[in-house]
Amino acid sequence: MTRWDAVVVGAGPAGSATARFLAQAGARVLLLDRAQFPRDKPCSEYLSPQSTRVLERLGADVVAAVEAAAPAHLYGMKLVAPSGRVALGRFAADHGWRPPRPYGFALPRTVFDTILRDAAVRAGVESWEGAAVEDLVYDAGAVGGVVVRTDNGQRTTLHARVVIGADGLNSVVARRLGVRTEHTPRRVAYTAHVADVRDVGDAGEMHVGQRGYVGLGPVGGGVTTVALVLPLAAVRADGRDMRRDFFAELERFPGLAGRFAARRLVRRVLVTGPFARWSRRTTADGALLVGDAADFFDPFTGQGIYAALRGAELAAEVLIPALAAGPVTAAALAPYRRARRRAFLGKWTLERLIGLGVGWPALAERVIARLARRPALADLLVGATGNFVPARAALRPGVLARLLF
Ligand SMILES: Cc1cc2nc3c(=O)[nH]c(=O)nc-3n(C[C@H](O)[C@H](O)[C@H](O)COP(=O)(O)OP(=O)(O)OC[C@H]3O[C@@H](n4cnc5c(N)ncnc54)[C@H](O)[C@@H]3O)c2cc1C
Repeated sequence: MTRWDAVVVGAGPAGSATARFLAQAGARVLLLDRAQFPRDKPCSEYLSPQSTRVLERLGADVVAAVEAAAPAHLYGMKLVAPSGRVALGRFAADHGWRPPRPYGFALPRTVFDTILRDAAVRAGVESWEGAAVEDLVYDAGAVGGVVVRTDNGQRTTLHARVVIGADGLNSVVARRLGVRTEHTPRRVAYTAHVADVRDVGDAGEMHVGQRGYVGLGPVGGGVTTVALVLPLAAVRADGRDMRRDFFAELERFPGLAGRFAARRLVRRVLVTGPFARWSRRTTADGALLVGDAADFFDPFTGQGIYAALRGAELAAEVLIPALAAGPVTAAALAPYRRARRRAFLGKWTLERLIGLGVGWPALAERVIARLARRPALADLLVGATGNFVPARAALRPGVLARLLF
């Protein structure tokens, strides 16, 4: 019977990065994904500037592969209020914190996720595609492996010293551990690739509307990635198929009217949600959760890929000594929970404040009007969502007061 050091469920950024870090430290790692690669993922496909630091630590070959894919470079974020008023925050600014580069990469997830998965394989990870994990198996009360169904319909039990749930928003691992919870706001997203969008520049754009918001930005090759995010209740009340009415819904945002005249979809509209799901615990005896499987609140601040990559790094820092020491118990993994709290508490607070705030159009109007008048404040806030300005700097009472009054 083969017993892996680690079975990683999900080959998105969280899973592939964790697998690579573990394999680089000498662990025997199996990486499973139910999809065949290259696989798509509903996303706005922008990597916050601080993500580049984790890519560098993953390896120069990873950064080189991203650069070779000719990604777009986003130098900041434009925030557009329900009235159409615009505030711009730049990553390179005078607040004293510097991003690794003055921009964040933006590239299709089909390309980015394949780069990371291939990087894991180069480090010695064994990767199976078309392998859907259906259940966990237990050994003396601890998680000891997974039941996987491969594309040919065959079910196999795989044994591991630790199972890493990196299987995203609908994590089977988190559900089987019984730790998954759902919260408000319940929003859904429709994402597409569109060609010939007018006036796309070198900043990402976030348009807040009377209901929902739209994020868009270039991803290279003349393609713009567009994500329409709406309250689930509004979508249900409408009874419309937003995949069909995608462009009509975009026209309702003042900053988008007329910009999609060509209506050139180059990839079908993907649907996902509702979000705001997280796990009460991220560790158990023989198991650990990372990326969206651990927590995901709302896409507005565009920090999910950073959280997946940084979370992978934090996981590996704890898993490597735990695997060397003996059984991978919840107690041995406890430092991971503490490290996540230290690394992400500010981010969790900021993304919740912003994510809830954009559900109030009058509040969003007020804050964006203040940011438009105070560019330094816009730079600070955008830097914090870019993960290189500490979130606590944007959460200081004086900063919050200037955003509102
Ligand atoms: C509309 C929208 C826009 C977003 N925009 C951005 C953005 O611009 N920037 C940003 O940083 N973040 C963004 N995010 C968030 C980002 O997409 C996620 O946070 C990120 O993909 C999380 O990575 P992950 O590896 O945890 O999960 P995923 O990328 O979801 O990967 C999970 C993997 O697990 C596999 N899997 C699932 N179930 C199983 C199973 N049972 N067995 C085997 N494999 C399985 C899946 O096939 C998938 O490959 C956005 C999210 C949404 C919804």
